[in-house]
Amino acid sequence: MSAITLNAPKLFDLSAQVALVTGAGSGIGQRIAIGLAQCGADVALLDRRSDDGLQQTADAIAATGRRSISLAADVTVKAALADAVLRTEKELGPLRLAVNAAGIANANPAEEMAEEQFQTMMDINLKGVFLSCQAEAQAMLKHGRGAIVNIASMSGVIVNRGLSQCHYNASKAGVIHMTKSMAMEWVGRGIRVNTISPGYTATPMNTRPEMVHQTKLFEEQTPMGRMAHVDEMVGPAVFLLSDAASFVTGVDLLVDGGFCCW
Ligand code: NAP
Repeated sequence: MSAITLNAPKLFDLSAQVALVTGAGSGIGQRIAIGLAQCGADVALLDRRSDDGLQQTADAIAATGRRSISLAADVTVKAALADAVLRTEKELGPLRLAVNAAGIANANPAEEMAEEQFQTMMDINLKGVFLSCQAEAQAMLKHGRGAIVNIASMSGVIVNRGLSQCHYNASKAGVIHMTKSMAMEWVGRGIRVNTISPGYTATPMNTRPEMVHQTKLFEEQTPMGRMAHVDEMVGPAVFLLSDAASFVTGVDLLVDGGFCCW
């Protein structure tokens, strides 16, 4: 056996690294942003929300002793993302890590869906992730180092029974394959890019009161018999961003309670 030089627990340490998280004012992005800070990162928080979501995330990060900045921005606007990366590097330091979680969901039968509804979904869920990756990678490529995680969905792999959301499913399939494509473009230049594809997860996106009936079905359809808690997205994100995943790129990590097995 060769000498053991690896310090395994240190693999997940993100100390003194700078991260940018989109969709950081709610749900999965919010919880992952706090989780990255708990692992030692300083975090730039981006969201379009005008409520106190970003402030809540910032307060939770302050309690960990790490730094954060809040960026009110729309991921469909290229210049806003360039500015966000610029501010992140100016105020926190060289950008090393990114999680792109901003997204929307809605439903409508395909034969009735207005072109505008389809387009808005693509603009936010697919183009927004593209523009985010582009701005983040431009900085990371300069430093020759970085890791990006895009939040896709199991809906990019399966079709959710009973949900008429062809535009959402197509946007998420697009995110998964776009991520693999970017991973291959940047593979020799120090940047890793992967997706996490959550199954049904209890967030404001799908725990609205009018969703109660739907939520029960989500739980019944999931082999583990429940939806994911947002906490359960943190470990996969930390893994993919950290040195523990140094040989992992272009992967779609399903975090779905077994959903895609059935
Ligand atoms: P969420 O609680 O609604 O969080 C998404 C955040 O992104 C919200 O704060 C939202 O703001 C923001 N956002 C939306 N469009 C934006 C834009 N154009 N620019 C900047 N910010 C924007 O939803 P979530 O459940 O955490 O979803 C996070 C990601 O996980 C999404 O990509 C979603 O598709 C994916 N996902 C979720 C589930 C699930 O079951 N929850 C399952 C699989 C995948 P607004 O509230 O103003 O829209």
